[in-house]
Amino acid sequence: MLEVEKLHVRYLTPRGPVRAVDGVSFNITPGEVFGLAGESGSGKSTIAHAIMRLLHPPAVITGGQVHFGGDDVLDMDDDELNEFRWGQVSMVFQSAMNALNPVLTVGEQITDVIDRHLHLPKKEARERAAFLLDLVGIEPSRIDSYPHQLSGGMRQRVVIAIALALNPPLMIMDEPTTALDVVVQKEIMQQIEQLKEKMGFSILFITHDLSLMVEFSDRIGVMYAGEIVELAPAKELFENPLHPYTQGLMNSFPSITGPKVKLTGIPGAPPDMVEPPSGCRFHPRCPHAMEKCSTIVPRLQEIKPEHFVACHLY
Ligand code: SF4
Ligand code: MG
Repeated sequence: MLEVEKLHVRYLTPRGPVRAVDGVSFNITPGEVFGLAGESGSGKSTIAHAIMRLLHPPAVITGGQVHFGGDDVLDMDDDELNEFRWGQVSMVFQSAMNALNPVLTVGEQITDVIDRHLHLPKKEARERAAFLLDLVGIEPSRIDSYPHQLSGGMRQRVVIAIALALNPPLMIMDEPTTALDVVVQKEIMQQIEQLKEKMGFSILFITHDLSLMVEFSDRIGVMYAGEIVELAPAKELFENPLHPYTQGLMNSFPSITGPKVKLTGIPGAPPDMVEPPSGCRFHPRCPHAMEKCSTIVPRLQEIKPEHFVACHLY
């Protein structure tokens, strides 16, 4: 359904272009939850914004292709983009719950999206808004509430209702629950999973919270310094991480249900992406680095069925 092929994004800075996304390829199939993992600054959000065509200078797409249901997303004009965003792909951001308009009721904000795209009569639009609130676990009687009358978790549910308003086949969720407490996070993710089963949409799921990602994703791509370094089904990745970076990420949380701890598995810091390290970009931090790691770029290869890794160890 979504195909991203050899995508390159640069941020043009006075110091030189920052290679934020460097030749990333992946696809998402109908009904699938595809996770993008990696430290902040690895390029995850940039990919999401590139797919939505929401990048603005100094960020520039310098290469590659994005196709959605066969349509060339990078070639769409404004009218096509208007239909594509919300109608085909919607997006839920971490900060979205704070982006709700404080002077409009939640019902008005949901019907606004419905109005602009579906042109339903007022009464039907309001009925659909109430239905959507119910779907995301909010009493439809709250339809005339203002955002400040709702908790953070409820506001984020409203944002999800807006994202579902036009029944899009793909939802991009970039840290959708990060601003919420752990219990509410879990509740909302479980609800999204149920909605996904019912409505059949796919999800591109971005989070720095690896335990949440492993639990809710079907497949996961692990990003390091603008590249996907490992790609595998979630369970396989969790049980059998191959890339030393993925192993570091996995070591940094004790168990999938246990308490979260800060990243401690990987010493060092992500590289300067104006001049990334030669060879394998992870080599300055890698406990297994060999001589050729600093000169030869490892390519993503299928080591086992559906399990891809870019590392000279394999
Ligand atoms: Fe480490 Fe070398 Fe593999 Fe890179 S290619 S992750 S430096 S072993
Ligand atoms: Mg981000």
